[in-house]
Amino acid sequence: MAELKLLTKHLGEEGCGTLKHYQSVGGFTAQKKALSMKGAELIDEVKKSGLRGRGGAGFPTGMKWSFIPQTDKPKYLLCNADEGEPGTFKDRVLLEQLPHQIIEGMVIAAKAIDSHTGFIYIRGEYKKSYDILQAAIDECYKAGLLGKNIMGSGFDFELGLYAGAGAYICGEETALINSLEGRRGHPRLKPPFPAVAGLYNCPTVVNNVETFSAVPHIINNGGEWYAKMGTPKSTGTRLFSVSGPLKKPGVYEIELGTPLMELINNLCGGMAEGHELKAIIPGGSSVPILTAEECKTANMDFESMMEHKTMLGSGAVIVLSDKTNLVETTYRLASFYAHESCGQCTPCREGTHWIKDLLHKIRDGLGSKKDLELILSLTVNMEGGTTICPLADACVGAVRPTIEKFRPEFEKRLQPTS
Ligand code: SF4
Repeated sequence: MAELKLLTKHLGEEGCGTLKHYQSVGGFTAQKKALSMKGAELIDEVKKSGLRGRGGAGFPTGMKWSFIPQTDKPKYLLCNADEGEPGTFKDRVLLEQLPHQIIEGMVIAAKAIDSHTGFIYIRGEYKKSYDILQAAIDECYKAGLLGKNIMGSGFDFELGLYAGAGAYICGEETALINSLEGRRGHPRLKPPFPAVAGLYNCPTVVNNVETFSAVPHIINNGGEWYAKMGTPKSTGTRLFSVSGPLKKPGVYEIELGTPLMELINNLCGGMAEGHELKAIIPGGSSVPILTAEECKTANMDFESMMEHKTMLGSGAVIVLSDKTNLVETTYRLASFYAHESCGQCTPCREGTHWIKDLLHKIRDGLGSKKDLELILSLTVNMEGGTTICPLADACVGAVRPTIEKFRPEFEKRLQPTS
């Protein structure tokens, strides 16, 4: 099996990352086409493509755009480049090597929803990506591809770049909006949803870097063409950042629906010398773990992951070997979520820290069976909409399935007398 390179087709070519190179391989032809189309036609094409958001939730992109109301209020378009989940690094490839593709996707989306102002919100730690993106934005302004009267079409779109301060939670769309407004990056209660009351209380669309990058291909080739790739409900290709003890870890673009083990064995070359596959976290640290046995039947699409009670999430495939200490891994992940909790909701503020402390005790051989049971009962009280945003659920996803599926490993660390 080979990669199906659509977004990354020209990655690594000489001059890749420059406007000249991007235009030489057909860049901005979709933008030109889109500027002569009506917003509704563009939305319709994206709906036909079946493109689902690549940031984590997998919401249909065309539908999200169609929620923007017809109003005289300004409409804002935001690109979520706050890639911060442990194991996730696929957006960085697009940001640093194909920045013009993101800009083109944003201009098309702006035309679709009649927005004249957009921002790319990038995580503070991505300094190199920030500089590359800023240079690409400057280049586009100079070439008349951004700003007033783009490509002589009469359509205006101003695009700014904003670096966050490095909080994981700012990747959640309402926290991102608060942060952009200069407030604390705290998630907001929904409803109202950003499509109705987002940035500055105006209609707002937030999409991920990879989602915008797919848009020029859909407009150039048509939604139906795009929908032929992948599975009926998970169309197109997707980038995955694969990490762990593998022969060739890295970022791969594959057709959705590809078996997980093909990605691991064929593209990543299988496990590194001396390592046996133990488990895989298929979509970033917040999604439930799969045992080696479960991995054999899992495909990289939204439906198959749901059947396996997990998710594609943020596109990070974290491979764990027989040499991985899962108690330590789970403790570290719980520590991450405890650190990143914004503190607004009691189940998250208290629960994440409580779980972290109990896992610390178990890791150090001081825990009891009661502590293990307490962790499990805490997770029940943290999930299922008891909090403003899904961070509490993310912590549950990182902890409970691992304990349930690998319980003997945790029990082995308990005090012998407990
Ligand atoms: S779930 Fe956690 S991170 Fe999300 S709003 Fe509540 S306290 Fe903040």
